[in-house]
Amino acid sequence: MNKQLFLQNLADLNTENKDVITLYNEISSLAMKCAGGISNTANKRNAYYLSMEFLIGRSFFNNLLELGVLNETKSILAEKGVDINVFEEIEDAALGNGGLGRLAACFLDSAAGLGLPLHGYGIRYKYGLFKQALENGCQVELPDDWQRFGDPWSVRREDEKREIKFADYTVTAVPYDMPVFGKRINRLRLFQAEGSEQAEKISEYLYPADDTEEGKLLRLRQEYFFSAATVAELLENYVKQHGRNFGNFPKLHVIQLNDTHPVIAIAEFIRLLTAKYRQPFATALSLARQTFAYTNHTVLPEALECWHEDYVKKILPDIADIIVKINIYAMREQTAAGCTEEEIAKMAIYKDKTFFMANLAVYVAKSVNGVAKLHTEILKNSLFATAHKIYPEKLQNKTNGITHRRWLELCNGEFSQLIDQTIGDGWRADISRLDGLKNYTAETVEKFIEVKRTKKQQLLKYIAEKEGVVVPDNFLVFAQVKRLHEYKRQLMTAFAVLDIYYGLKSGEIKDFYPSVFIFGAKSAPAYKRAKAIIKFINEIAAKVNADAQTNGLLKVVFVQNYNVSYAEKIVTGADVSLQVSTAGLEASGTGNMKFMLNGAVTCGTMDGANIEIVEFAGKQNNYIFGAEVDEIERLKREGYSPAALLNTPLCSRAVEALVNGEFSDGGTGGFKELYESLINGASWHAPDNYFVLYDLKSYFEALLSINADYKQKFAFAEKQLINAASAAYFSSDRTIREYADDIWKI
Ligand SMILES: *Cc1c(COP(=O)(O)O)cnc(C)c1O
Repeated sequence: MNKQLFLQNLADLNTENKDVITLYNEISSLAMKCAGGISNTANKRNAYYLSMEFLIGRSFFNNLLELGVLNETKSILAEKGVDINVFEEIEDAALGNGGLGRLAACFLDSAAGLGLPLHGYGIRYKYGLFKQALENGCQVELPDDWQRFGDPWSVRREDEKREIKFADYTVTAVPYDMPVFGKRINRLRLFQAEGSEQAEKISEYLYPADDTEEGKLLRLRQEYFFSAATVAELLENYVKQHGRNFGNFPKLHVIQLNDTHPVIAIAEFIRLLTAKYRQPFATALSLARQTFAYTNHTVLPEALECWHEDYVKKILPDIADIIVKINIYAMREQTAAGCTEEEIAKMAIYKDKTFFMANLAVYVAKSVNGVAKLHTEILKNSLFATAHKIYPEKLQNKTNGITHRRWLELCNGEFSQLIDQTIGDGWRADISRLDGLKNYTAETVEKFIEVKRTKKQQLLKYIAEKEGVVVPDNFLVFAQVKRLHEYKRQLMTAFAVLDIYYGLKSGEIKDFYPSVFIFGAKSAPAYKRAKAIIKFINEIAAKVNADAQTNGLLKVVFVQNYNVSYAEKIVTGADVSLQVSTAGLEASGTGNMKFMLNGAVTCGTMDGANIEIVEFAGKQNNYIFGAEVDEIERLKREGYSPAALLNTPLCSRAVEALVNGEFSDGGTGGFKELYESLINGASWHAPDNYFVLYDLKSYFEALLSINADYKQKFAFAEKQLINAASAAYFSSDRTIREYADDIWKI
């Protein structure tokens, strides 16, 4: 970065009578001009991160921070009468859905920060994840036209566009490069589909509705589109430099597949090597097996990509042939290794006219990783157990992380300064030094209490403005913010809150410390049950907040349009992080880490990275409850019937509230359907498939014990501070170092 040039030009910038969007574009463009180009490491080994999602959030503040000019920019603008916070008007680039997309963004940040050559490849969606509004307590989806603010951080690379062919039409993939700033400048390359109206559809929406054949095909086209554009580019650039001797390709490239969506890249890689570059199939397959690595993010069966062969044959017939052929090689190898037919069937890449993309990835990839210790164990012992037996060297763990630059330095300047005062600022460059905070003094705790108060005030003020719910800032703040899904059990929190409310009304709960429950979540547009849960929480909020008998003690807020920028506020202002997924189902979670880093205690189940969080921060400093994986497994085996639980007061009061007329679902039948899913099961699910009623009592009790403990302000703040001080491990700097050392070898 030419800092001098930037600051001089900024000082000279005329800001008068310019609107925020104009200023945003001018200042960002100036930073782009002064930042320098993408670091060139074409002759060295590079890692490529293929991801259907990059949940970047707002780039403005983060980029200025990474470029080392945020503070100066702030003061120069202030002198001109411009408050830098006006740029909060610029909306997030939400080219992702949740944790997986945010992880991709954190990884790019950390790699650049550590000076490692990792480049992101994905899709430049015209519309990101929809904007959520609440109408009458129901989610409504509005298009997210993020580019209307301009896109000053991207450069269109017309000269590097290429054609991507489907059986029925051809699409042009035009790259847009976003620099990722740090110790070096890496590239995030997002492809935009152009050429015809049909073509443009491919990069129009993140997650098109895929309940129709057309929707499914569109989704497949998206996956192929950016995967194909990426591998074509890498191979072409290689051939330009090295000719058609591909032996060195795997030495110079490692391609990390972020979940199962881009696994089709493997087939395309082989297709190009065989059809275009005339390599024998076995050579191409062998090159693929040295080049690709795969990360699994979920064990939920509905999220593993399985494609009926008809779909693939229809638009990508050559790819279908190649996957069939890979399957033959896989079966041959597995037979030779002595696998039984049953074992081979479990690892099948092609079976019952279906392509199993996760199995394809596991067979080809040189490394397969889970994203938290428990998750990796589950991969080894169940989801990929057979493959693990045959290919024991492949499976490994890489516990997720979050970038502490965005998730502490940027979003919590107050706490960052306190840390600087306490242990010096070395932690910013080397996060492992955060450990030093464990030697805190009483004075540090007192100062931390002040910081928390400030952040809470900021959050509650923002919520009052945005959501119209006023919460006094002495309230204890619980937060559950994440995508809405049954396995994440927002419904269980709703029930627990309802039980607290009833307990307060009846007088059974005494000496309750005033508390607010903050929810934030988007539901997939077609996920009816999730939408009913949103409505249910909002019904509870309306009732609880309006009840003068209790609303000095209990409030509920469902914030609209939860996104990265909202998360930056919530994780800093919350006291308690609610991470209550059914044990075994949350692969890792990263929201849990953001809260921890900002000094919130976790109230959660032994699931995902929660387990490691309490390993580092101590169980005694967190609130762990509920059934563990073994118990859930046992219940599934022996049969779990929630019916008996329904007679307990906690469950019956909460569950009956769904159907006894106390709350209205607006005539949709959504509440009755939720009720049915708990009592009788629905679609292919068992009754209470996610063990909401099973864990409700221990959850309720955990919440009350937190409530009681919070009255000891100092001791509670100490727990919070210890959590923050123990969070270094959860920086994505650590995660990226592990990927770089163990998988990428960069
Ligand atoms: C971190 C983050 C997530 C992931 O949250 P989990 O609690 O790990 O599911 C989802 N959405 C946004 C906007 C985030 O910042």
